[in-house]
Amino acid sequence: MLLIRGGDVIDQSGRRRADVLIDGDRIVAVGIGLQVGSGASVLDADGAVTCPGFVDLHTHLRQPGNEEAETVETGSRAGALGGYTALVAMPNTSPATDSVAMVRQVRQWGEAAGLADVHPAATITAGRSGEQLADLAALYADGVRVFTDDGNEVADAALMRAALELARQLPGAVIAQHAECAALVAAGHLNEGPVAQALGLVGRPGTAEEITVARDLALVALVGGNVRYHVLHASVAATVELIRRAKAAGLAVSVEVTPQHLTLTDACCSGADPTFKVNPPLRREEDLLALRDALRDGVIDAVATDHAPHTPDTKARPFASAPPGMLGLETALAVVVGRAGIPLERAIAALSWQPARIAGLSEHGRPIAPGEPANICVIDPNRRWEVIADRLASKSHNTPFAHWTVTGKVRHTVLRGTPTVIDEVAQR
Ligand SMILES: [Zn+2]
Repeated sequence: MLLIRGGDVIDQSGRRRADVLIDGDRIVAVGIGLQVGSGASVLDADGAVTCPGFVDLHTHLRQPGNEEAETVETGSRAGALGGYTALVAMPNTSPATDSVAMVRQVRQWGEAAGLADVHPAATITAGRSGEQLADLAALYADGVRVFTDDGNEVADAALMRAALELARQLPGAVIAQHAECAALVAAGHLNEGPVAQALGLVGRPGTAEEITVARDLALVALVGGNVRYHVLHASVAATVELIRRAKAAGLAVSVEVTPQHLTLTDACCSGADPTFKVNPPLRREEDLLALRDALRDGVIDAVATDHAPHTPDTKARPFASAPPGMLGLETALAVVVGRAGIPLERAIAALSWQPARIAGLSEHGRPIAPGEPANICVIDPNRRWEVIADRLASKSHNTPFAHWTVTGKVRHTVLRGTPTVIDEVAQR
């Protein structure tokens, strides 16, 4: 038996004072003043909040192919420390995760690490080449629900239409797009605008995102049948408006935003520090504010990290040749709540049950109630801490939040009844 004692519970049914008792992999009791025998373990939640474990829709675990930057194990450890009990692993590995055999391999690494449930997403196109579809039906039959060529847009409209038509036949499958019109961003390195101009670098216009989202939404309407479509890492105000209208029209669409797009702008790139290079790029203040509003009012469904580890030597290259991407798993909660000012209840929804629903994960993001799986995190919303890049559990150190003093930290994480983090320390 494991008792989480003290603090408040926050889940789909609101906030209340309660202890949580776990037996095996399930919650067995929720209430005030729960008692246990001397053999039970107790996790202290005094002054903290107990909530469903977080679910990241967008994690780059880098295995296979770039194990110097991250492995399933190190990324899962970073996830557990960030309060995550489930990670959707992006398939832009090397080789790309586009087959049942590869999906099973990534899952198996996740099980061996035992720090989070790793759910591989698979590519939309074979080899992520953008030329022909992967075997989506076979991947779906093996349990894959999220399909994406993330890193690249699926540029070919006919191929995108075919992917949506196939997904329409597979209940719960979602086609997730890296929405940046490939032709418009091909040579770009950061947001198109005065900062790019001052650096003498080619930009990636926000319009590239707007064009792809608008095109895809038109395809979603054309395909019909409640096919599910998801916009990865929205970065511009125009995307928010397109999604708002599509939802009002009844389309089954969803959208995520990253902590970095809620807190950083392209002004961060003015010193040409590649730590701030990411795709889609950091945008303008007005985009950031529109994204915050949309997350608060529910147009944006989920916060996803786009955790993208890169080795120090690759990130030390000049801006134009450094790879895009930033770490995110261990800092997401603090950045979203403590810096972007998203109310705690809203942030937890966007970090937990809403992404679980999008990814079709029935064992995560569940209410804190008897009979439910014990995938839980306990967070201290008032805990102040400094982000120190080389003390993060990730194998890489490319966080844009280094030296920030932030508020809000994960105290404990529990995966199927077993603590993966106790008092801010990973248990394996
Ligand atoms: Zn992407």
